[in-house]
Amino acid sequence: MRYNGVTVRVPAKVNLQLAVGPLADDGYHELTTVFQAISLFDDVSVRRGKVGTGITLTISGATSHGVPSDASNLAYKAAQIFINRFGISPDLEIALKKEIPVAGGMAGGSADAAGVIVAIDSLFELQLSRDEMEKIGSELGSDVPFGISGGIAIGRGRGDQITPALTKGQYYWVLAMSGQGLSTPAVYQECDRLRAGMSIARPQSSDALMQALRAGDAVSVGKALSNDLQAAACSLRPALRLILDIGSEYGALGSIVSGSGPTVAFLVADEEKALDLTVALSSSGVVGDIARAYGPVPGARVVATS
Ligand code: ATP
Repeated sequence: MRYNGVTVRVPAKVNLQLAVGPLADDGYHELTTVFQAISLFDDVSVRRGKVGTGITLTISGATSHGVPSDASNLAYKAAQIFINRFGISPDLEIALKKEIPVAGGMAGGSADAAGVIVAIDSLFELQLSRDEMEKIGSELGSDVPFGISGGIAIGRGRGDQITPALTKGQYYWVLAMSGQGLSTPAVYQECDRLRAGMSIARPQSSDALMQALRAGDAVSVGKALSNDLQAAACSLRPALRLILDIGSEYGALGSIVSGSGPTVAFLVADEEKALDLTVALSSSGVVGDIARAYGPVPGARVVATS
């Protein structure tokens, strides 16, 4: 059946582990990361537009402020790849409804690109495999393939070579967001500055974390959370240290800066503990918006057609 429009729901991610290797000659770092997709979503709609209108992009939702609506948007770039490579109609109306924080270390822009890829595949009946879609995604950004796959996965290379992980259990998160984002390249630069003169090993996945995930043992997952970018994010935004401390004071199983930050993710035992920590964080006065989420959830998937 030929649809006129498709809506895809796509999740945010937290990094349970982010191991950053030495700076390579090409300016990038080899990564080993463990992603978990969580229940904070952007909705991405793609509709066939009127002939001659080209790509139009509209952005709404709680976290839409400051998101570019021009060709620099990753969703726009994703559509452009399909127009050039698959010869689909260039007249597309893309609508993003954003709930994922912008520049928050939760891969919001990548999620939107992943959403466009899955939406266009469905709308134009391209029948691409998940692997093919993830390959296109990796051209747009290292977090895009995981937006397509979802669940829990190990990312290698630049984080774009995804291997799904077999895990048990549901994990509850409290997310302390910041009104002002952090630039991912700036955080990597600060990381390099802090490590200057040190010898840095190749990144490896943490056995303790993988074992805890296989057992569904949230207490051990909490202890095994690690992020090599955390010191750099805290150096650029010292208030993050105060926020991380509140988590340990109020019984979080683990507290971590998500990706390049500045979102801080607290792992808690259950929904009740999540509510307790939310109250403590909001009365602390040092946190902006707070969200609660659980994971793992699936990657980008079609939720409506018209
Ligand atoms: P990551 O965790 O992958 O490093 P992030 O969550 O920190 O990313 P994003 O929300 O993806 O950061 O946004 C980073 C920048 O990308 C924004 O400041 C914005 O200018 C630009 N951008 C491009 N497309 C989008 C989009 N669809 N949504 C949000 N930001 C976008």
